[in-house]
Amino acid sequence: MEIILGKTSGFCPGITNAVETTKKILQEEKKSIYCLGDLTHNAQVIEKLETMGLITIQNVEEAKEKVIFRSHGVEKETYEKAKQLGLQVIDLTCPKVLRIHKLADEYNQKGYHIVYIGDGKHPEVVGTLSYCKGNYSIIEDESDVDKVIEEISKKTYTKIVLLAQTTFHLEKYAKILQQLKSKMPENVEFVVEETICNATHIRQKETLEIAKQVDYMIIIGGRKSSNTHKLYEIAKENCKKAILIETKNELPLEELKKVNKIGIMAGASTPKESIQDVINLL
Ligand code: SF4
Repeated sequence: MEIILGKTSGFCPGITNAVETTKKILQEEKKSIYCLGDLTHNAQVIEKLETMGLITIQNVEEAKEKVIFRSHGVEKETYEKAKQLGLQVIDLTCPKVLRIHKLADEYNQKGYHIVYIGDGKHPEVVGTLSYCKGNYSIIEDESDVDKVIEEISKKTYTKIVLLAQTTFHLEKYAKILQQLKSKMPENVEFVVEETICNATHIRQKETLEIAKQVDYMIIIGGRKSSNTHKLYEIAKENCKKAILIETKNELPLEELKKVNKIGIMAGASTPKESIQDVINLL
């Protein structure tokens, strides 16, 4: 059995910073620290940090003394709320997400309508949209483009900026962008800000390259992880067989015994231990 492991598998810089900083704080303080929402979308990483004292909360009011804001970022109002509650904020929002918050805020103030490509329910998106103050249209897939163009024409917007979720599927993004460009009313100034993260880009590209060379793709990562799901989609589209697993325990060993060439990729929130466990078992 030949195994090809993607070189870019595993933690991206944003998640590395969030996890390592949290570990360091927990080791130094030796007491519980609250994190608003999952620090990262990987159950194994969270479980480990919980044994060290991390407490995941869903509402900032549940925190005491200090609160961690995770790499996906939080809504604008949450910073204000934390301040009112007298909490010390440990802001581990990835700088690439903070850049999108800043762009959304600035363009909104300059009178642009924001067209945003992403999953409206994802925490990163919810955080970013809070900076648009209701002045946005969301595109989740190609089928939303016509509806948004109609809205732009109806409301006679003249300045539009395009932003996207950091982990959005690159090929789908390119198709949506092409459609928007071809359908945008002529009198509209259309600005495109590149906000898809390079860490996402390189993992998606490598997944595509490996998927085309192997008989079976294994994508390792959290089921709640958006970037892991994108890798799985790419693997499914480009390889005869692809599976998404969180840990080695989910490997279909009997099925894999018959496979000659296996490709492995892992999402940006997957720890190296989970990747190594899979390789060792294979
Ligand atoms: S995928 Fe990119 S934007 Fe998201 S946390 Fe990692 S480095 Fe930051």
